[in-house]
Amino acid sequence: MSENFYVTTPIYYINGEPHLGHTYTTVLADTLARYHALAGERSFFLTGSDEHGEKALEVAAERQETPQQVADHYAKIFREVWDTLGIRYDRFIRTTDADHKAVVQSILQTVYDGGHIEFKEYEGLYCVGCERFLTDRDLEDGLCPDHERAPEKRSEANYFFKMGKQFAWLSEFIETNPDFIRPDRYRNEVLSMLKEESGLGGDLCISRPKTRLDWGIELPFDEGYVCYVWFDALINYLTGIGYPDDPDFPALWASAEHLIGKDILKPHAIFWPCMLRAIGLEPYRHLNVHGYWNVDSRKISKSLGNRISPLDMNEKYGFESFRYYLLRDMSFGIDSNFTEESLVTRINSDLANNLGNLVSRTLNMVKRFAEGNVPEPGPIGDLEREVMEVAGRLPEAVDREMRATRCHRALETIFGLVDAANRYLERREPWKVAKQEGGEESVRTTLYTCCEALRITAILLSPFLPLTAAEILERIGQSGELESAQLPQSAQWGGIQVGAATQKGDPLFPRIDLETIGESGA
Ligand SMILES: [Zn+2]
Repeated sequence: MSENFYVTTPIYYINGEPHLGHTYTTVLADTLARYHALAGERSFFLTGSDEHGEKALEVAAERQETPQQVADHYAKIFREVWDTLGIRYDRFIRTTDADHKAVVQSILQTVYDGGHIEFKEYEGLYCVGCERFLTDRDLEDGLCPDHERAPEKRSEANYFFKMGKQFAWLSEFIETNPDFIRPDRYRNEVLSMLKEESGLGGDLCISRPKTRLDWGIELPFDEGYVCYVWFDALINYLTGIGYPDDPDFPALWASAEHLIGKDILKPHAIFWPCMLRAIGLEPYRHLNVHGYWNVDSRKISKSLGNRISPLDMNEKYGFESFRYYLLRDMSFGIDSNFTEESLVTRINSDLANNLGNLVSRTLNMVKRFAEGNVPEPGPIGDLEREVMEVAGRLPEAVDREMRATRCHRALETIFGLVDAANRYLERREPWKVAKQEGGEESVRTTLYTCCEALRITAILLSPFLPLTAAEILERIGQSGELESAQLPQSAQWGGIQVGAATQKGDPLFPRIDLETIGESGA
């Protein structure tokens, strides 16, 4: 097992507030970072804001502010939203941070000195939205398909990173490291992109003349130019963990995993490994690529007004329920469709009826039949053994899914234990057995089994639903356990403190009436 885990989200662009797409990637990174910490690794989670480039100037003009004011405004909003929602990042990096500027300049000089950069005249079709030159093949009906606007014809003398030199190496690296880019569908996509790009020579423009754009990091070898955004933005992943001098940098970098949406596959899968090779660094460990969230079956867009705000969801449903839905409903790598109906259905079926019900039934009976304390179990039978077997398989199965970034499968696996414990209760019927002569010992065994199943469920759920997990542990009298918990040992059967005082509490997840969801109009 690796001793480090370094996870990143993309740095988010400063032209709007966080919506569903940002929230999903950030929640996923938060969950993975918490999971690896629970597994005893040193985990580092980096997120931040991407602040340079032409779009920032457009927003500044709209808002009648300087680009620095725009950057400060949105960086603050992103940070505040993540803080409000309990996202536990280790650093929020901004591309206007002084250390980042210094790192970008020093890397540019290294790559320039290494002969990887050339200066030349270029004419092409430029999309301001993409901040890059497009080829004819990128266009649909003469428009950039991502921005639905016509590119401008531009001719410019610029600096180019000669990344084509690395393509043969990169193709071979991807072929021989099948899990470098995950899931497979994106790996295959990148291999075919590489073939296409090779045909185009593979030069990446990395500068803008200051006469046209002065909002960026100045090139160290030409004060008439600033750095082009991707070259600046991708390097945040190095600055964020103290490149080049921090003593922790080498170990953290060796464990780097990037999380991205599929829209920024090419820069991360092609530009970035080529840049790293020119810098003289090893590639990151994994690129984990997720699909799009559509809303009511339509692409998320500002103009459709269907951008789901995580703060609204927090207010309406509680953030943990929303977080659970995001992690459980998206099959990693595949597009998913957000509807409030599917969110409510998911909360009701998994959280209210299944998990919440197990908590309240168990604790009601512990109160009635065991004076409110976790009871000492008697001899166990086949039904107990079945629950123990399900629990026994969990740590390894969950670990396998989490290391492959399949949170939806990990949750499905954990809820297998909740299902098993609910079924077990139905079969043991402690509420009937309690009335029988000499039934006390059997009831104590049943309730012990359910409390222990809840303890293991809570520990394994804690990276996904940190507040809920802490609440369940507190109610079963095991509060504080998370502070010292470590997988896999803390999720092994038999760890619960017998005799601990439990508290029944209110329903963890009250059922939501589907008919009420339209009323406040999220
Ligand atoms: Zn575009």
